[in-house]
Amino acid sequence: MSLINLKVSPGETRTEQLNIAKLHNGTDLKIPVIISRGLEDGPCILLSAGIHGDETNGVEIVRQLIRNGYNKPQRGTIICMPVVNVFGFISQTRDFPDGRDLNRMFPGTKNGSLASRFAYNIMDEIAPYIDYCIDFHTGGAKRFNYTQIRLDIKNEETMELAKVFGAKFIIDAENRDKSFRDALTEKGKKVLLFEGGKSLNLDRIVTDVGIVGALRVLHHLNFRDYSNEIAACKYPKEKAVLVENSTWVRAKESGMYRNKIRLGEKVKKGDVLGTISDPFGTFEIELVSPHAGYVICTNHAPIVYEGDAVVHITTKIAEHF
Ligand SMILES: [Zn+2]
Repeated sequence: MSLINLKVSPGETRTEQLNIAKLHNGTDLKIPVIISRGLEDGPCILLSAGIHGDETNGVEIVRQLIRNGYNKPQRGTIICMPVVNVFGFISQTRDFPDGRDLNRMFPGTKNGSLASRFAYNIMDEIAPYIDYCIDFHTGGAKRFNYTQIRLDIKNEETMELAKVFGAKFIIDAENRDKSFRDALTEKGKKVLLFEGGKSLNLDRIVTDVGIVGALRVLHHLNFRDYSNEIAACKYPKEKAVLVENSTWVRAKESGMYRNKIRLGEKVKKGDVLGTISDPFGTFEIELVSPHAGYVICTNHAPIVYEGDAVVHITTKIAEHF
């Protein structure tokens, strides 16, 4: 498939199968790509999720956008890829069958590893046609992220879109080398990376915040008038906290972990974040916050090893804006 040859007519929505690889039994592996073109010419945005195959919240966000017809613009083109890493989605794992992280393989090469070829195909078939992208992610494993947008804040236009999105936290995060965001940014595309919730989980608040954020961006870019849909959302736009730096508080002992703080809340230095104990009633220690800050991620794992990242706290924030 080539999007340029696809000839989606104005006002039309089509699902194309992007032929991406061959399985070892000879089956072609295809990713559904849903392309909707408005009646008027305008920009093109990609709404992608599931680059990490177990990050189901993102998949659900893009699924609902499609299911509710929000992907049908009046102007411009909206491309939806709810499940990019179909391999991982089938096996409910983050990575590719060869153990590679697809989000560290971009822009990929034509004759490289399976994941590298896969990345190459997406850059070749999809990336050239888009102007914007919202890439939906969740925390790895049991790390539950408060809804947040990550971007390089030096990029002014993307920063403007991050404010429009309306998540509580905007995290200044330079592009990871060889990530999808990095490869698209290199090509001059404006990319927002959404993070919310944890892997292999569906969280109603996370998905609702992701959906309304996407609608605010689509509305702002004039794809369609989404005012009614945005007004109907239960989660009003929060004043964003710009996070310039953050750090993980790590487990001091191995054991069972009980969390005592609410995600998103502001803690003071010395506040008890949780407790770690052995299973035999021998010891129970408190995990104490080494500084003041907002809690942007907590680990939901009931059992932790010493050194495991348990609570992610901001260390430097700009005032609300
Ligand atoms: Zn991810």
